[in-house]
Amino acid sequence: MKKLLFTPGPLSTSATVKEAMLEDMGSRDHAFIEAVKEIRTGLLTLAGVSKEGGYECVIVQGSGTFGVESVIGSVTGENDTLAVLVNGAYGERIVKMAKINRIKHVVLRFDEDEIVTPEATEKFLTENPGITHVACIHSETTTGLFNPVKAIGAVCKARNKVFIVDAMSSFGGVEMNMQQMHIDFLVSSSNKCIEGVPGFSFALCKRSELEKAKGQGRSLSLDLYDQWNGLETSGQFRFTPPTLSIMAFRQAMKELEAEGGVAARANRYKTNKRLLDEGMAALGFKQYLKPEIQGHIISSFLYPSDTSFNFESFYNKLNERGFVIYPGKLSKADAFRIGNIGQIFPADIRALVAAVKEVLL
Ligand SMILES: *Cc1c(COP(=O)(O)O)cnc(C)c1O
Repeated sequence: MKKLLFTPGPLSTSATVKEAMLEDMGSRDHAFIEAVKEIRTGLLTLAGVSKEGGYECVIVQGSGTFGVESVIGSVTGENDTLAVLVNGAYGERIVKMAKINRIKHVVLRFDEDEIVTPEATEKFLTENPGITHVACIHSETTTGLFNPVKAIGAVCKARNKVFIVDAMSSFGGVEMNMQQMHIDFLVSSSNKCIEGVPGFSFALCKRSELEKAKGQGRSLSLDLYDQWNGLETSGQFRFTPPTLSIMAFRQAMKELEAEGGVAARANRYKTNKRLLDEGMAALGFKQYLKPEIQGHIISSFLYPSDTSFNFESFYNKLNERGFVIYPGKLSKADAFRIGNIGQIFPADIRALVAAVKEVLL
């Protein structure tokens, strides 16, 4: 049975994206090298920047976390201090990376149902003048909220801080201009809103900042500068690339363009979100976040107050019907999550809501 994934990734992908993986592909094949080139240029375009304008795209093998760790571990020097702005599990993951990589760091924490504010960030930067780098999550997939990255970026820019954004679950599904948002490093991956399959992450980097990372990496395989240097000098990856995932991604980028680009995709996801919210509300579900801070990528629904609700059984019954939802990851509340992204269309959301109604009976 075909299952639809209402998750934050991996996501449901189109048949044509999967078909792009049917031919074996050598890593030195001309067609592969061309695909890598096209993807690197195309991703910069999606972020509103270009190589000529001073930006670079570095593809890193592995899942999204590998890309974030590659940036965090490579761009911060021994004498630098990283500030991590945290309001969910993905922000905490960056703190963990800083610890393991032995990077000097400070943490500004917010509750999981609150956004990171530019005001608090500004105050924190004033109180901690040693901070050189700031890291923040755009779409905090833990809850589904969107942090006001542009305003936070303006605060960082005014104080000359390097600004790193994990836009993993939103890039491609939310219009973004890296330069206007004052982002120096933006990380996302192959299996989120661009709707490819898992296999790699990518860092979009301001070249002048990337160049400073030379010789500074804390890991061989995750050295961002060396990875970039390899791609630039030979067009090759240093180590075995995810060839088929790259071929699928190139197809996914074509399909994003055919859909009408990021604006059109964002509209489809927003429609999904609206239908989901309405449908679930009609069934009595309440959401964890206030509507004003919710993004349109994923929604967190509180467990019904009815004590007979059992998430395990709810999940399994939906799964049997072909609908895969996602558990919660909140520290203080019981909730589950439903994603609005991937090859999911309004009819699929209606079918999901109908199935939820059925399994609740
Ligand atoms: C998906 C995601 C990641 C990366 O997770 P992986 O499992 O390593 O792909 C990082 N940050 C956010 C906000 C995410 O949604």
